[in-house]
Amino acid sequence: MSKDEEITKNGQRRQDGTIAYSSETEGKRGIIFPSPIFGPVHSRRLGVSLGVNLLPGDGKVCSFDCIYCECGYNKSFPPHQKLPTRTEVRQALRAKLQEMKAVGPNPDVITFAGNGEPTVHPRFADIIHDTIALRDEFFPEAKISVLCNSTRILREDVFNALLKVDNNILKLDTIDMDYIRMVDRPLSPRFSVEKIIERMMEFGNRCIVQTMFLKGTHNGRDVSNVSDKFVLPWIDAIQRIQPSEVMIYTIDRTTPSPLLEKATPAELDNIADRVQSLGIPCQVSY
Ligand code: SF4
Repeated sequence: MSKDEEITKNGQRRQDGTIAYSSETEGKRGIIFPSPIFGPVHSRRLGVSLGVNLLPGDGKVCSFDCIYCECGYNKSFPPHQKLPTRTEVRQALRAKLQEMKAVGPNPDVITFAGNGEPTVHPRFADIIHDTIALRDEFFPEAKISVLCNSTRILREDVFNALLKVDNNILKLDTIDMDYIRMVDRPLSPRFSVEKIIERMMEFGNRCIVQTMFLKGTHNGRDVSNVSDKFVLPWIDAIQRIQPSEVMIYTIDRTTPSPLLEKATPAELDNIADRVQSLGIPCQVSY
């Protein structure tokens, strides 16, 4: 069996190169992205987005293990391949940008996302440096976005690299540590949301805060974070951070935990109104 066939065992390779797993019996549900480059994908919100995946192409690596993660649970997709090297990322990105320059489409954004948390890559800062140079060479008008779960922003190299990108998008689902342990599930027992908020305050308007709102149950426990109990302290944190923008969203695809539910448009709009009343723009994805 070839490597490719092994990867696709029980999964379905889609046109965009991602592999969707949906085996409910194994609890193995999620989407695994090619590495180190995937797409481009077209979205109404971002335009043409070229993906950079700094994690292995056959599994997931993340410092959180969110119950709503579209890649599935960490334990369901242990990688066998290594992280792509800095050189592999640079060469693959150069080749893809060259191809897009020749035959289109032009990227609106180069987005660091994929099979987990991009900042766990030990050469993350160097790769951001390379990506800025390649962006400037091929498509200087394109933006660079990083979707980051915030766990590693206390590191100086990660902090300084994130300051250099156009869209530094940092996760903050709540400020309630019990909820974080139940829903985001940080791997490190030392994770402290207060320290993360203090670091976000140092970014200030050089970060965008991204928050997942959801409802339903997980292992018999209520996981709703749309009530005032969660929203009011979260709003206080947003006020302290003063980000350039807030993005709120809800679950969109199949989640590894099966009984999660979407927050309603009215609930999301209500939360967005409260953010906007602080004078901070808030983008909602329903
Ligand atoms: S932080 Fe992102 S990649 Fe990591 S488990 Fe959560 S949703 Fe998945």
